[in-house]
Amino acid sequence: MTKTRKDFGRKKGCRRCGRKRGIVRRYGLHICRQCFRETAFELGFRKYS
Ligand SMILES: [Zn+2]
Repeated sequence: MTKTRKDFGRKKGCRRCGRKRGIVRRYGLHICRQCFRETAFELGFRKYS
């Protein structure tokens, strides 16, 4: 039995691409950093300019 994180029990990682590395749990998005940049852009978190 591996009870590491219950939060990750249902999700297999990134909600968009399924990656497990670099998961960003900010804002409750549960996506990888790569998708986070894209999603953040859609949400209006434009901090790159
Ligand atoms: Zn992703």
